Parts: sequence; structure tokens; C-alpha cells
Amino acid sequence: MSHTLTIENLSFRYHKEIILKDISFSTDPGEFISIIGPNGSGKTTLIKIISKINKPEKGKIYIKGNNIQTMSNRQLARHIAVVMQSVEPVSMSVEEYVLLGRLPFFKKYQFFETARDIKLAHKYMELTGILKLKDASINKISGGERQLAAIARALTQEPKLLILDEPTSHLDITHQIQILELISSLKKTLCLTVLIVLHDLNLAAEYSDRLVLLNGKNGKIYQTGTCEQVLSEKSIQEVYNTKVRIQKNPVSKRPCIFLITQNALNKEENIIV
Ligand code: ADP
Repeated sequence: MSHTLTIENLSFRYHKEIILKDISFSTDPGEFISIIGPNGSGKTTLIKIISKINKPEKGKIYIKGNNIQTMSNRQLARHIAVVMQSVEPVSMSVEEYVLLGRLPFFKKYQFFETARDIKLAHKYMELTGILKLKDASINKISGGERQLAAIARALTQEPKLLILDEPTSHLDITHQIQILELISSLKKTLCLTVLIVLHDLNLAAEYSDRLVLLNGKNGKIYQTGTCEQVLSEKSIQEVYNTKVRIQKNPVSKRPCIFLITQNALNKEENIIV
């Protein structure tokens, strides 16, 4: 079974300072992998390199065994769909916006979408719960609905690898869970590989099969592994410079992170003394 995505010894810098250094990991079909790490640790940069927006200084990226540097953007878009943090304002209907996901599949001199394209767009609008908004302007729906439209557009590309950059960062908990539940179920039904940047470590712990924790201090990966392996009080202290306690979520039994205030810490130390 070939990996959906393989990253080998990737390094990148915008200017002098190294942003990503010797990054290597791979993902399998049907895996949900979260990239976590402090602000500025290079999570979005990594996604931009995989999407060929940024060119790496060193290293290789393979999608289903094909080096992305030898693939055209159109070929790449048949394998990878990317949902960025926010949807840029565009004046078109939700349906027109979702149909843009079919563009990489248009034949030469094809100017209009086919009946199959429309069927696919409707299927994924239905799945994401936005079919009822198909005629609404993308500018006049809520942030959560726009995020769902972006996911529907990405799915309409029928990718092997779905990449999302903090898709839940502007959403309330209801919509955060709605989106992650949806992605998690699609992962199973479509055997989709999901690579997602998540800020919220507890959400990452609930949904991920594996985590990639970026260090932020030297551009390297601090650790890759299961949520239990990666999320330890020591790793969070070292990477985020923050004291936390980790216990098991009482329902899922996944690691659950509790932030500790200095005040609470002082009190705890006084009790121990
Ligand atoms: P994260 O997503 O983990 O918050 P980013 O990948 O956005 O981190 O940024 C990593 C580092 O690269 C940061 O120090 C950021 O300031 C810098 N950076 C991001 N984009 C650019 C850019 N276009 N030009 C120069 N530096 C950038």
C-alpha cells in the first residue's frame, strides 16, 4: 500500500531564518493526522509547501509515490484539496463556489460543468449540510457555513488527501464539533487521508490517529506519534513553555489537557509544602 503523502527531509526558509528543518513523515489512506505546534512554528508554511505555493529549499514530497515538483498544479489538484483558514470574499453563489472544485477535471476547451460535476457538487453540499444554501451568495452566509462550503468545494475535487488549515479557529464549539465530526466520518466513508492544522490540542487529541508536533525553536519535528505518545506534560512544557496537566477524557479516554494558572500552581505548591 503506497503512502498518500510522503515528506522526506524537507527544509524551508523565507529569508535567513530556518522555518522548517529536516521534516519527514508519511500518511496512509484513511488516516487523520493533525499538525500541532506553537504560533509561528511553520504549520501553515508546511501546508503551503505541500500545495506548491512555497518551494522547499531541500527535500522531497510525494503524493501517491509521485514527486509533486514533477506534477502540474492541475494534476496536483486531482489528488490534494486544501481548505485554508478563511474563505476569501467572492461574489458568487454557494453552488458556483462549490463547483469550482471541479475545475481541475475540466477537459481542454470545456467551459461549463457537466451533469456529473453538478451531481458531485450537490452530493457534497448535501453531505456538508449546505445544499439548502446553494443559491445564497457566499458573502451573505455565516462564517461556519462558509467554512462548510469550502469543505464541500474541497470534497468536490474528490481528493485522496484533504488538507485543512485550522478550519475551526473562528467557530463556536457546536460548529467546531460539527466540522470535525463530518471530516472524521468522511475519512472513513471515502478512505480520505486528512492532514489538518489544529490549534486546539484537546480537539486534536479527540479526532487524530496521529500527531505531528512541530518544535518551533529549531524548525524540526519535536515528535510524531499517537496522541498518547505525543501529548505529555513534558512535551507541552518544552514546546509551548506552558505548564499543563494531562488526564484521560472520562468518555473517550483520550488525553485531555488542562491549563494551569500561576495562581493555581502557587496554591498547589503551598498545599504540598
Ligand atoms: P504557524 O502556522 O505555525 O503559526 P507560519 O507557517 O504561519 O506558522 O509561520 C512560520 C514563520 O514564518 C513565522 O515566523 C512567520 O512570521 C514566518 N512567515 C510566514 N509567512 C511568511 C512570509 N510570507 N514571508 C516571510 N516570513 C513569513
